[in-house]
Amino acid sequence: MKKIMTWIGLSLSAVLLLAACGRDDNESATPEGDRPLKVVTSFTIIADMANEIGGDLVEVHNLVPTGTDPHEYEPLPNDIKAATDADVLFYNGLNLEGGKKGWFFKMIDTVNQKEENVFSLTERVEPMYLTGSDGRDEEINPHAFIDPAVGVKMAEDLRDILVKKHPSKSDEIQKRGDAYVQRLKEIDKEYQERFNDIPEEKRILVTSERAFQYMAYHYGLKEAYIWEIDTEENGSPTQIKKLVEFIKTHEVQVLFIESNVDPRPMETVANETGVRIAKKKIYSDEIGKPGDEVDTYVKYLKYNIDLIHEELSE
Ligand SMILES: [Zn+2]
Repeated sequence: MKKIMTWIGLSLSAVLLLAACGRDDNESATPEGDRPLKVVTSFTIIADMANEIGGDLVEVHNLVPTGTDPHEYEPLPNDIKAATDADVLFYNGLNLEGGKKGWFFKMIDTVNQKEENVFSLTERVEPMYLTGSDGRDEEINPHAFIDPAVGVKMAEDLRDILVKKHPSKSDEIQKRGDAYVQRLKEIDKEYQERFNDIPEEKRILVTSERAFQYMAYHYGLKEAYIWEIDTEENGSPTQIKKLVEFIKTHEVQVLFIESNVDPRPMETVANETGVRIAKKKIYSDEIGKPGDEVDTYVKYLKYNIDLIHEELSE
């Protein structure tokens, strides 16, 4: 196994080296004529936004696929190639990709991409913080996109950047972008209405990871969780005990399990408290694979509010 790993390591460095030398600096960053704009996105939700807004005027290469943790990722040789050739690269920011020292910026450095081609989509989002414990510094919670009002800002920024980067198709991109942003604004309104419809004492969202902080804050929900973030300890006895204590003193009627986490810690909480688990998984870090029930950001937002509304209203 070790031998194989070394070999993969070596061949990856070779690809990195080739990729780093391969970019022609005289090449224009914006496409001439009719070729689609080459877009690289850090994870599934941004890839979907870029496809919705850019249509066939963009060619999207997404980095972190469904089923893989966006907090920690090792770019593959074809990712490196796409990042090298990209006209524009989008990432979430708020430390989703590990911040300036994380995997995304390591890759950007390696491929020699120009800073002016690389964009965070959360520049206009007020960060919220996870609670530090044991002297650990407070960390930014990256999961802002679960709140549709944040999705609106991300989509607006993505639209404006594509418009600038693809001047010959700017009208069409603007139009597609406006329609998409409008769609997300309607979903934000729908969230507000659906939450208002749930009796106030029942507005408690319990999940495994503390991913729903922005959404809970925006719509006035109380949140509870087992662990703060996937990259740290998940489901230790102390964490489970803390949630069990919370449930004893609050009127929690349902527990949600995310599509991308180990279900066992929440099952333990259910066994210890007698509170039931939601009928379906909730989505947090990703959308589904193409063809899945939840394979776009719009479907993801609608699926989550339908599920939460149904489970909390019962
Ligand atoms: Zn997460």
